[in-house]
Amino acid sequence: MSKDITIIGGGFAGLSAGYDLTRAGHRVTVLEADDFVGGLAGAFEAEGERLDRFYHHWFTNDLAVMGLIDDLGLSDEVMTNPTNTGVYYNSSVFKLSTPMDLLKFSPLPFFDRIRLGLLTLRARKVKDWMALEHKTASEWLRELGGERVYKVMWEPLLQGKFGPYAEDISAVWFWNKLKLRGGSRGKAGEERLAYFQGSFARLAEATADGIRAGGGKVHTRSAVDSFAQEADGRWRTKGAWGEVTSDAVIATTALPLVADMIEGWAAPDYLAALRRINYLSNVCLVLELDRSLSDTYWLNVNDPSFPYVGVIEHTNFMKPETYGGNHVVYLSKYLPHQEALYNMSAEETLEFSLPHLKKMFPEFDASWINRYHVWKARWAQPVVEKEYAKLIPSEDGPLPGMHICSMAQIYPEDRGTNYAIREGRALARRLAGD
Ligand SMILES: Cc1cc2nc3c(=O)[nH]c(=O)nc-3n(C[C@H](O)[C@H](O)[C@H](O)COP(=O)(O)OP(=O)(O)OC[C@H]3O[C@@H](n4cnc5c(N)ncnc54)[C@H](O)[C@@H]3O)c2cc1C
Repeated sequence: MSKDITIIGGGFAGLSAGYDLTRAGHRVTVLEADDFVGGLAGAFEAEGERLDRFYHHWFTNDLAVMGLIDDLGLSDEVMTNPTNTGVYYNSSVFKLSTPMDLLKFSPLPFFDRIRLGLLTLRARKVKDWMALEHKTASEWLRELGGERVYKVMWEPLLQGKFGPYAEDISAVWFWNKLKLRGGSRGKAGEERLAYFQGSFARLAEATADGIRAGGGKVHTRSAVDSFAQEADGRWRTKGAWGEVTSDAVIATTALPLVADMIEGWAAPDYLAALRRINYLSNVCLVLELDRSLSDTYWLNVNDPSFPYVGVIEHTNFMKPETYGGNHVVYLSKYLPHQEALYNMSAEETLEFSLPHLKKMFPEFDASWINRYHVWKARWAQPVVEKEYAKLIPSEDGPLPGMHICSMAQIYPEDRGTNYAIREGRALARRLAGD
């Protein structure tokens, strides 16, 4: 029987659920607070081409996303390019893409370089991730590679990415990162990543178009304030724009936002569970430069004096000609939303960042900057703690017809568009089968 289904959030989870539910004959309404679809994978205009606000790529083994692209008939628009990884440590950049790079990684004594290599190989072989549930990443990485490898390689990354939560992060989270990146390789063992022509947002828009083509609705500028079940079992979803009623609601926003929407009727225990998982925010300073900063695509920053955890030169992955010849660099920082950097204006962020960039790349000059942008996301990364499985709320809410399909429920993998699509489509399949 065809149902009315309201989906809150027009990111990849909401759109892919909506796309499949529409195809299954349901009447879908997607309500998105922002004035664009794509959520964290939204874009801006850079010299006539769209570009992600927050750097994005896919791994070659991201099968769910490739499945959606195939269904939309857009497979020709996926590009797979070689990339490389480096580490900034003690004022120097070290390449770290191949086993040979690792053998030359001088911040560690030779014996520890071998341990580091073995650690990544052993980590990738772990099949039973449940066995890691009870360990923090810090405990596990120390066990596998020893103290020195931990201090040089892993501790700065955990600190940079999770700040005050670094010591709480689950071994499962770290295991998954090692596994994924190691698995995204070409035939010759080279690191390869995939991208979508014209930005990830174009894929989000194509998915939204697919919903509309099937008779569904996708409304932007439609923030939801609340949703609740009526006496007749129908769900009423409200915002400043008005209200819709439906047989079911799927909320795809961050969990504390879902709690705010149902505060009026849900039990305190349930609300507390939705508010239990912590989230970090993200700030990205995006620079459009007249020349390249370095030849590294993904530079991990293992130096706590540098205020960003990664320097990602997108145009070492996609050609600069795509962006009018500009070289695009993202400086990325995950942080609690109360921190100073998250609350700076765009100008303050640039001013604060320039001396650090100059220290990292001494030849860099502010005159290289053609344009810059600062993007912020309040709900950017759930903090995946030890024993995280116990914290994840069910996809089915406390009343029939309420469902949650949110980034924080993705586990043992970490959030990512591939998993947003996988989970969105899996929920749609289940509801369509009901
Ligand atoms: C810095 C950074 C880098 C990343 N890099 C990658 C990468 O390289 N590859 C990759 O695959 N993934 C990457 N990700 C992760 C990826 O962007 C997310 O996992 C994915 O986009 C999540 O999709 P989602 O639909 O679950 O959530 P979201 O994209 O967060 O969508 C939720 C939507 O709900 C909307 N919303 C919020 N409140 C309301 C309300 N009250 N009413 C209506 N709508 C509301 C939001 O505006 C948003 O559009 C990155 C993320 C960040 C922050």
